[in-house]
Amino acid sequence: MISLQNIEKVYRTDTIQTLALNRINLEVEKGEFLSIMGPSGCGKSTLLNIIGLLDLPSKGSINIDAQPTGNLSDKQLARLRNQKLGFIFQSYHLINDLQVLDNVELPLLYRDTTAKERRQLATAALEKVGLSNRVKHFPSQLSGGQRQRVAIARAIVGKPEIILADEPTGNLDSAMGNEIMDILLQLNREDGTTIVMVTHDPNMAEKTHRLVRLFDGSQVQ
Ligand code: ADP
Ligand code: ADP
Repeated sequence: MISLQNIEKVYRTDTIQTLALNRINLEVEKGEFLSIMGPSGCGKSTLLNIIGLLDLPSKGSINIDAQPTGNLSDKQLARLRNQKLGFIFQSYHLINDLQVLDNVELPLLYRDTTAKERRQLATAALEKVGLSNRVKHFPSQLSGGQRQRVAIARAIVGKPEIILADEPTGNLDSAMGNEIMDILLQLNREDGTTIVMVTHDPNMAEKTHRLVRLFDGSQVQ
């Protein structure tokens, strides 16, 4: 489903050059739930951003669902991202002055959908994460765990084959973190969604199928 070949990422400024990723090779199967761990600064977010087609590698190639991405235009990359990928971040990234339902509908605005379809899909996604009773709330009126559930609903509303999660439980206490993890496990198990998750928490990583460890830009396990 995701194939990375010899990925290198170099960040260059006037004075500094940082090798953030060094010859990463990774195959993620359809339906797999993979976690990525490693110390701060080892390249986890960079790797996730590259898998998510948000950032380009300096060298190497990425295939998503057997499709090479190296020659795609920005517009084609954006389309692929919108069709295949759902993103979840540590700090939720909800729009504070939009109600829950409108937040969840956002990714569908880039698709050929009617308002009625958007409403139906967003309602179904919120049902899936157990938030049907909060559709008219604003993000500031929700707990951290509820906000993350809205973010998951927004990530899954377009039925992506892949979810990329950057420390989705990082801002939550362990009870709320476990709730979020249960939802991700359910999406993986029941819908067959492929998930790649960056985490600092070994208890979360343990629940996934496979763990990749990064150290200083290189894969060590
Ligand atoms: P992690 O997510 O594991 O904390 P990152 O992927 O954020 O690590 O960063 C990997 C390395 O790349 C770090 O040394 C970081 O300082 C560097 N880095 C990340 N983003 C940039 C950037 N935009 N410009 C320069 N260096 C960066
Ligand atoms: P933090 O760990 O500081 O909370 P996040 O998990 O919120 O960071 O974000 C992780 C990375 O994803 C950052 O490099 C950020 O720039 C990027 N990012 C966050 N939101 C979006 C978005 N909506 N679209 C594209 N990239 C994003």
